[in-house]
Amino acid sequence: MVLFIIGALTLPGNDIAPQLEDTHIQAQLQQSEYEPVEEANPTPDKAAVKAEPTTKQEPEGTIKPQQSKIAPPANPAIVEVEAGQTFVGVLTDLGIDNRQANLIALSINKAFDLRKLKQGQEIVVIFDEQEYPDDLVVTNIALQTGVQDTVEFYINDAGEYQSKLTSIPLTPKTISVSGDIKGSFYQSAIKAGLTPNIITKLTKLLSYDVDFQRDIRAGDKFKVICDVMVDQTGKAQRSGRIHYAMLKTRFDNIEFYSFKNGGVDNYYDKKGRNIRKALLRTPVEAARISSRFGPRKHPILGYNKMHTGVDFAAPTGTKIYAAGDGKITRLGRNGGYGNYIKIRHNAKYSTAYAHLHKYAKGMRKGSYVKQGQVIGYVGSTGMSTGPHLHYEVHENGKKVNPQAARIPIIDSLGGKQLKAFKSRMKEIDKMLGTSLDNG
Ligand SMILES: [Zn+2]
Repeated sequence: MVLFIIGALTLPGNDIAPQLEDTHIQAQLQQSEYEPVEEANPTPDKAAVKAEPTTKQEPEGTIKPQQSKIAPPANPAIVEVEAGQTFVGVLTDLGIDNRQANLIALSINKAFDLRKLKQGQEIVVIFDEQEYPDDLVVTNIALQTGVQDTVEFYINDAGEYQSKLTSIPLTPKTISVSGDIKGSFYQSAIKAGLTPNIITKLTKLLSYDVDFQRDIRAGDKFKVICDVMVDQTGKAQRSGRIHYAMLKTRFDNIEFYSFKNGGVDNYYDKKGRNIRKALLRTPVEAARISSRFGPRKHPILGYNKMHTGVDFAAPTGTKIYAAGDGKITRLGRNGGYGNYIKIRHNAKYSTAYAHLHKYAKGMRKGSYVKQGQVIGYVGSTGMSTGPHLHYEVHENGKKVNPQAARIPIIDSLGGKQLKAFKSRMKEIDKMLGTSLDNG
């Protein structure tokens, strides 16, 4: 009789709270306990990066299978040195074998002490086109070591590894460069007189609209106005500000202008819209929202608890996309979040993805991802009983509602700023009409 009464009392509770909602709230309660760990947890990354033959290891052992195969890097690959990373580490992280990487380092060390390599330094690596992407055979490397200094690695006619430090007096100049694409965008732009640095910048900016692996074809046209430092022969050696860029592909005619906003150059289309996109609101292939952001009542305990993200219910294995361009700042097990990825998009915004079944190939801490790139697959790891994606947007470190509005990474121009931008656009258009020195 007593047992019967208890049963009768608990039943209504279950009716009010559907199964998925019920169990997931428990997950949320557990998750909050783990959050401080996210920042405080000391990771052995630095040590791991320095260990030489590497695919870099993350703190969690569970993700090894996904990490063993790394997608081929772009050709040319343009990378920035990360904190604590060695030169050989940079190369092996790209997938270059350890022996080749060490031989290259030996050669470069004769021209430049690689122990002086600093975080943020850019390295351009060009692979042999005949072998790429099956074998990563390096033919050239450019490493900028100072305003007027570059270390160049190349293979001479005798097949020997050579490195030289170039240091030259330079003068500033504004140039207009245009060309047709033959081979890669990089090669064509170098041929037209642009520097590796400016091409790096351009490639990043144009990547908001262009997939350089697939969209570019021979005959596509480009035009760039930029400041450079030229040597005595008039050859551009260093890049400065990009004023304007145009790339015409079979899909699109992309144009953008730089405009100082908040003291730094940002890039806008003719209508004053930042060329960087807003964050994706639904960073998962096909899904329905199963739980929204905001306070919700715990069905058993009876008090309100904040749900710090949005849940998308989807079958295990459903693709999860990066909501915006950015860098993976965390990847691995994260307590109640299970398999977890966090991407930093800029100083203001990060996004987080939890309960992943597994990570996409090549994903690791420090990887740069593009908006819409597959980063992982829906699962139910951590404190979760049904497959779903728990998605969070962090604004200045605070969790905000991903559905509240389209969250722009940077705003578009309006009012006074738009006016100032339009007059700058006119100036640049005049420059386009005039024949500047062609690089
Ligand atoms: Zn959730």
